[in-house]
Amino acid sequence: MKRFDTLAEMGHEEVVVCSDPSVGYRGILAVHSTKLGPALGGTRFWQYASDEEAITDALRLSRGMTYKNAVAGLHLGGGKSIIIGDNKTKDRERIFRAHGRFVESLGGRYITAEDVGTSTKDMDYVHMETSHVAGLAGKSGDPSPVTAHGVFRAVQASANRRWGSDSLEGKTVTIQGCGSVGTYLAKELHEAGAKLIVSDIDSAKAARVSKMTGAKIVEGDVIYSLDADIFSPCALGGIINDSTIPRLKVQIVAGGANNQLLEERHGDELQRRGILYAPDYVANAGGVINVYGEVAGWDAQRALDKADDIYDTVLKVFDIAESQHIPTYEAADRLAEQRLAEA
Ligand code: NAD
Repeated sequence: MKRFDTLAEMGHEEVVVCSDPSVGYRGILAVHSTKLGPALGGTRFWQYASDEEAITDALRLSRGMTYKNAVAGLHLGGGKSIIIGDNKTKDRERIFRAHGRFVESLGGRYITAEDVGTSTKDMDYVHMETSHVAGLAGKSGDPSPVTAHGVFRAVQASANRRWGSDSLEGKTVTIQGCGSVGTYLAKELHEAGAKLIVSDIDSAKAARVSKMTGAKIVEGDVIYSLDADIFSPCALGGIINDSTIPRLKVQIVAGGANNQLLEERHGDELQRRGILYAPDYVANAGGVINVYGEVAGWDAQRALDKADDIYDTVLKVFDIAESQHIPTYEAADRLAEQRLAEA
C-alpha cells in the first residue's frame, strides 16, 4: 500500500517492473506523466545497491523529465527507465532487445533514449524491438551543439536581467568542463565578445578550447574563486554546495551541467547572496529538444531555433521568482506545473 501512496504523492501514472531471467534482464519503466505527450526519458544502466534504490531513482528521474520537458515547451511527458546490472557487460544485444520489448509493450506511452551507461549502439538493439526510441546513430546526432546554444541563450537572458542588456562583450565567464557542451559554449561566448577562463581535469581538452578562443586556463578548484561575472558549470553535478558558494564572486551561475545544486537549500543560499541562478534543467533543455526533434522529424536548424526560446523561458522563470519571492529553481518548477495544469 505504501508504494501506491508514494506514486500518488509523486504523481506517477504507471511504473512497470519487468523481468526476463532467460537473458539476465531486470528493468523498471517509470511513466510519470503523459499529460503533455508521450513520456520521454533515457534508459539508465546501473548496478544499484538494492531494488528499492533502483525504483526510487526511476521515480525521481522520471518526475524530473516531466518538469524538464514541460518547461522546454515540448509535446512530451516525462518518463525514465532503469536496467539493473553491470553496464560494462559485453552481453548487450539480448539485454537491450529485452528492454525494447518491454518499451514496446507500453504502446508508445513511453519513448526511450540514451542515458548513463548506455550508448547509441545499445539504442539500435532497442530499436530492433520497438520504434519508441530516439537518439539513434545517424539520426539527430550529437545533442551538444544544441544544448550549448540553449545554455548560451540562458547566459544572455541572465545578463539581461542582471545588467539590463544581452551583451556579453567584455564580461568574464568561467567555464568548468571543456567537454562537448563546454567547448561549443566557449565558442559562442567567444564570438559574443566574452573573456573566458576555463578548467578541465583533462588538460588537453582545456588546451584545445584555449587555442580556439584565447581562454585562460586554471587548474582544479581555483575556478570557483575567480574574479569573474558569470560561472558556467559544464562538467559535474553537485558543484554548488557549502564549500563552493562562499568562494563565488560571480553575479550569475548559468551552465549546462545537470543537478548543479547539491541540495535545494543551496539554491536558496545563492539567492540570499544575490547570485542569479539560471536553473540547470531550463538552461540545458537543448539536449531534450534535440531528441524531440528526432521524434518529430525536425532538421538540425529547427532544433537550434527551438533552443533559442530558452532565452524567453529563463526570463519567465526570473519573473515568477521575483513576483512570488521564491528562488529561481523553485520558480522553474512552478512554470512546469503551470504548463501541466493548463494541459
Ligand atoms: P563531457 O563528458 O563531454 O564533458 C564533461 C567534461 O568535464 C570532460 O571534459 C571532463 O574531463 C570534465 N570534468 C570532469 N570533472 C571535472 C572537474 N572536476 N573539473 C573540471 N572539469 C571536469 O560531457 P558533456 O556532454 O559536455 O556534458 C556536460 C554536462 O552537461 C553534464 O553534466 C551533462 O549531464 C550535462 N548535459 C549534457 C547534455 C548534452 O547534450 N551533452 C545535455 C544536457 C545536460
